[in-house]
Amino acid sequence: MSDITSREEEMVEEISRLQGERPYLDNLFRSFGPILLQRQRWLQKRLKPGKTFQVDPVKYTAGIALVQQCQGFLDDDRWQDAGLAAAGAIGRGLPDLAMDMDYLANRIRGGLDCQAMCLAAAESSEVDVNQRAAEIGIKEVSFVVFLRSVERMILGLRAMEMAEELAKLNWQKGYCPVCGSFPHLAVIREKGQRWLQCPKCSHEWKFPRMTCPYCEHEDPENTGFLFVEGKKEEMAYTCDKCRKYLITIDQSGNLRHISADLLAISLAHLDIVVQEQGLEPMVQCEWNTYQNQQ
Ligand SMILES: [Zn+2]
Ligand SMILES: [Zn+2]
Repeated sequence: MSDITSREEEMVEEISRLQGERPYLDNLFRSFGPILLQRQRWLQKRLKPGKTFQVDPVKYTAGIALVQQCQGFLDDDRWQDAGLAAAGAIGRGLPDLAMDMDYLANRIRGGLDCQAMCLAAAESSEVDVNQRAAEIGIKEVSFVVFLRSVERMILGLRAMEMAEELAKLNWQKGYCPVCGSFPHLAVIREKGQRWLQCPKCSHEWKFPRMTCPYCEHEDPENTGFLFVEGKKEEMAYTCDKCRKYLITIDQSGNLRHISADLLAISLAHLDIVVQEQGLEPMVQCEWNTYQNQQ
């Protein structure tokens, strides 16, 4: 009990509620639930209060994200620990990858440098990443899911550390002010404000409701909303200019704070419908691409 934070408990309850409500997405919740819970636990434990970076307000307002201004990854980010936590959770959620994750965890315990491995991969092409997976001795998909998970943990730390500082500054772009990723979800809150959600660091930021976060055009003629029958709060914003879409959920009036990752997973059926129409997500993440690879 002492090991479990109340935020994590809330997530456990939320996952089981959503699983019951949306049995057709059971597979996704089973796969990614353990990974999200592990990340939550790791972030709660690892947060060192008071650690902040100097942000240049002029550069920031001009759209230069935090990780482009300062170092996004630090030596003391406890990479080995993050690697072991990620490998364990992926193995539990995705049984097909479990053997690779056991093997990788053993290599990490044996001294494989997680920080060097992840940073090198972040700067490598897909081909190089695939080659590195082969050198380590695991499947490409295992390595990619692992790298993404560790990256999400470390960037999640940055976002938590910087949230207060960034809230005072003005950000006008459709990509994340912390890590530069495009959003995977938009949440509509009080007064109709649209909050974009980052799939990597979990930062959220306000953005004009009718502007496309990807190509920034705001012509209503080329903008659409796609709904599933009977669910008026759940929709996909679509842009005819760049042919991207953004899953959107109206949470105005809902006082419960549900994790954006869980909301995004709970709307993954919409991803399929929109992708069948030839549109692409603004960013690829496990829950809007993995299901298509099954
Ligand atoms: Zn981000
Ligand atoms: Zn667009």
